[in-house]
Amino acid sequence: MKSNRKNNKIIKCPYCGRTAVLRDGSYVYGEKSRVDKLYVCSNYPECNAYVGVIPGTNIPKGTLADSELRNKRIKAHRAFDEIWKNKIMTRNEAYNWMKFQFGLTGEQAHIGNFSDYMCQKLIKESSIIIDNYKKVRY
Ligand SMILES: [Zn+2]
Repeated sequence: MKSNRKNNKIIKCPYCGRTAVLRDGSYVYGEKSRVDKLYVCSNYPECNAYVGVIPGTNIPKGTLADSELRNKRIKAHRAFDEIWKNKIMTRNEAYNWMKFQFGLTGEQAHIGNFSDYMCQKLIKESSIIIDNYKKVRY
């Protein structure tokens, strides 16, 4: 996928092909939303796809995701973050490992852009590292 850093880029929903619209977090999460802004599929809620923005910007964190993929990405992040939170690697090293492991460029090495399949792979590879680390340690 080509990325385009222009401000007015049109973001399409990968599920239904409609345009995503920048909305307040409350549009999806209600009044108590702690999320500032989201790109939401214009067919929401029939199409339950959205993605947050990088704080303080209108730049999406990744591609729009449905609830299943959103959950997968959260799980993948959790598994991956264990690596640097346990100080097995620094955060930077962990990202470099991820890039190397999956042959990604820096631009691609964002879990927000990951597909279901890539999330699955990251969870698996991260847990191997963590299991090995625990075996050596205990
Ligand atoms: Zn959609």
